[in-house]
Amino acid sequence: MSDFLQHKSQEEIEGWLRETDPERLKLLWAAADETRRRHVGDQVHLRGLIEISNYCIRACAYCGLRAGHGSVERYRLTRDEILSCAHKAVGFEYGTVVLQAGEDYGIKRDWLAEIIKTIKKETNLAVTLSLGERPDEDLIEWRTAGADRYLLRFETSDRALYERIHPPAKGQEISDRPAILRRLKQLGYEAGSGVMVGIPGQNYSILARDILLFQDLDLDMIGVGPFIAHPETPLGRGELESAPDGEQVPNTEGMTYKTVALTRLICPEANIPSTTALATINTALGRELGLSRGANIVMPNLTPPQYRALYEIYPAKACIDEAAEDCHACMKGRIRRIGRIPGTGPGGRKKGGIAPQ
Ligand code: SAM
Ligand code: SF4
Repeated sequence: MSDFLQHKSQEEIEGWLRETDPERLKLLWAAADETRRRHVGDQVHLRGLIEISNYCIRACAYCGLRAGHGSVERYRLTRDEILSCAHKAVGFEYGTVVLQAGEDYGIKRDWLAEIIKTIKKETNLAVTLSLGERPDEDLIEWRTAGADRYLLRFETSDRALYERIHPPAKGQEISDRPAILRRLKQLGYEAGSGVMVGIPGQNYSILARDILLFQDLDLDMIGVGPFIAHPETPLGRGELESAPDGEQVPNTEGMTYKTVALTRLICPEANIPSTTALATINTALGRELGLSRGANIVMPNLTPPQYRALYEIYPAKACIDEAAEDCHACMKGRIRRIGRIPGTGPGGRKKGGIAPQ
């Protein structure tokens, strides 16, 4: 494994992203798997995902929940629904719940702070938030209430591409997600980020720089999944330009595994999920292959079934028809079948890694 990413340079990463030789790729998968085993062990931590609202003020060019998508029926869970999902997570022995939503200012600072406090008082769960670019006062109050982690993908390290795919909300300036991630770390959150693989306009050099930015931000969690076109969005309708032929990164399964594996090699201690988007493009084996090529986290869905289909960030999302109990049994089975161990405890980042298991 010694010739792997010796220089951790953009050129080296780009070379691997362009690699197509199956024998060379086998070496990449093996190196990523070995690095995963050495640094984060064989446990696969389960993060129970609760999609608490699909309202959103943003107009991201890739996402089905964008404000301009008028035909989406919007919902916001009640306090009791959220707490009931959290108690389900305890019953399933998950260590974490992730409260995710569109950027929804109907989610009030104090309302959510009370819910976070209640979860922390009534359970041992770690609480992760993924609620978009909320103001500093909200982030401070939720951290004080007990929230442990925050997920905010920077989506791309390329400023010009970011401006095209993530326009500012009405009356606001273009945002700086890497700056928000640094602020989250200052506030004491574990910070998670990531990108989609194969968004139109993403070329190999941009994706290589994305991976280097993961390292530069010293992220605790990194999620990478394939871009999946939603027909009711500007990117899904082909309204934004792709990179020239041979330069555009394809939004394929293979390219996603390469990105996951390289991310593991560059950021060995990070918690890396095998994403739902990956499971959507390969329902049979996507999750397992992600876990075998660098990932160590899965996110079973706890959202009450009547809301699942409404959280349609892209079409045909995996697991939308399953109850939490089915998702739970399915995930644990998949983990055990590949010889890994369902994780226990909160499963936060361990700086310096762990002793081999
Ligand atoms: N609203 C919050 C935010 O944007 O950070 C959290 C929810 S948002 C739906 C979570 C992530 O979904 C985004 O960061 C984006 O990377 C991903 N996503 C959105 N649309 C997608 C698509 N069409 N294909 C794949 N992933 C997508
Ligand atoms: Fe809203 Fe997040 Fe979707 Fe952007 S990605 S439209 S912020 S839910």
